[in-house]
Amino acid sequence: VAPTATSFVKPEETPAPLVLEDTRVAFAHRSTFELWRARLLFWSFAHPFVVRLGAFFTTWFLRLRLPGFTALIRKTLFAHFCGGESLASCEPAVEALAQGKVLSILDYSVEGEKTEAGFDATLRETLASVDYAADHPHVAFSVFKVTGLVRYALLEKLSLTGSVLTKDEQSEWARAKARMEAIGQRVSEKGGRLLIDAEETWTQPIVDATVEEMMARFNRSRAVVFNTYQLYRRAALPNLAQGFERAVAGGYFFGAKLVRGAYLERERARAAVMGYPDPIQPDKASTDRDYDAAVRLCLDHLDRAAVFVGTHNDESCQNLVREIHARGLPRNDPRIFMSQLYGMSDHLSFNLGQAGFNVAKYMPYGPLRSVLPYLIRRAEENSGIAGQGSRELMLVNRELRRRRG
Ligand SMILES: Cc1cc2nc3c(=O)[nH]c(=O)nc-3n(C[C@H](O)[C@H](O)[C@H](O)COP(=O)(O)OP(=O)(O)OC[C@H]3O[C@@H](n4cnc5c(N)ncnc54)[C@H](O)[C@@H]3O)c2cc1C
Repeated sequence: VAPTATSFVKPEETPAPLVLEDTRVAFAHRSTFELWRARLLFWSFAHPFVVRLGAFFTTWFLRLRLPGFTALIRKTLFAHFCGGESLASCEPAVEALAQGKVLSILDYSVEGEKTEAGFDATLRETLASVDYAADHPHVAFSVFKVTGLVRYALLEKLSLTGSVLTKDEQSEWARAKARMEAIGQRVSEKGGRLLIDAEETWTQPIVDATVEEMMARFNRSRAVVFNTYQLYRRAALPNLAQGFERAVAGGYFFGAKLVRGAYLERERARAAVMGYPDPIQPDKASTDRDYDAAVRLCLDHLDRAAVFVGTHNDESCQNLVREIHARGLPRNDPRIFMSQLYGMSDHLSFNLGQAGFNVAKYMPYGPLRSVLPYLIRRAEENSGIAGQGSRELMLVNRELRRRRG
């Protein structure tokens, strides 16, 4: 199933693009106070120096447990980008999204666990989130990061070709795999769907192999397990096509979560230091081209595949809308989902949701201190005047002006 070379359906062949920037729809779930808070956050993100300083002080002040500072972060950064500290505390945010026809994906975002007890605790919480999703009509998927369930260095070792594990490492890996399978088993029994996030290329080979085993086991009658493909990787599109072919040959359904990829600088820096070829596309246009091709490949094979399009890119969403229309598919085809992160690109999520498409937002939750690396990544990603953050700021300002009348 080589990806086709033709481009997306031409805009002129379809009805006018959806209006995705209606800020009334986008921010109906946010109070004016919350919009002022968002304004302050995105304004600070526009200044990279403030972000760097903020990241430094936040990390240290939270470590020192300064109570006033912890409360400040909880009420600003955390409240904007996270659903709460526990599953139950996410309920109001889940309901607010549901009112705007947007579903949630509760993502236990604790990172940097290093002990077996920590990995077991992440497993217990992830299983609780699976049960919660099963009982909750407004939660669409469950999700986990493999690095929350297993030691990072072990994943690195397992991903190196030809590496030999010690006896202890073999049993450590067996325990880690059992954790992942327990989650897959629970999701499958409960009739849910499971996304598995992708991280750096040097831990990904073993993750891909394990997730594929899970697909072969759990995707017998529908796509339950979805692997993540980062299209900023040169190898991602061929990997996707081959993964799909193996699913067809193996008689199971293929689940693909498509993202561009979040670790560009780290990938390039490591390749340069270690002297291997850069695994990342040479430029943004190449990433965009492969992203479009990957979406198309999945849509071409919906009889055997389901696709989850995770992006904040307006054009990628408009392309998908055009393709759904051109193929005569219903807007809410259960095999197609779009997704953005909580606190970001609400204009896409809510306008698409209102228009009848399947949209679910990743909603991170967990104890404030553990979620901090996630929050710092969001601040960095939104930093600078030309980035995502400045668009968010522009939309928030527009809505505040509209509310003032
Ligand atoms: C719901 C959801 C789930 C996600 N899950 C994951 C995950 O599991 N793993 C993960 O890695 N990321 C994940 N991400 C983040 C994602 O990979 C992107 O970093 C982020 O969404 C920005 O890309 P975009 O498509 O939204 O928008 P855009 O702003 O159009 O694209 C920015 C992206 O383009 C790529 N890019 C930028 N410059 C260049 C360049 N010079 N050369 C090549 N490529 C370039 C990079 O990937 C960059 O992040 C997720 C995002 C969402 C919304």
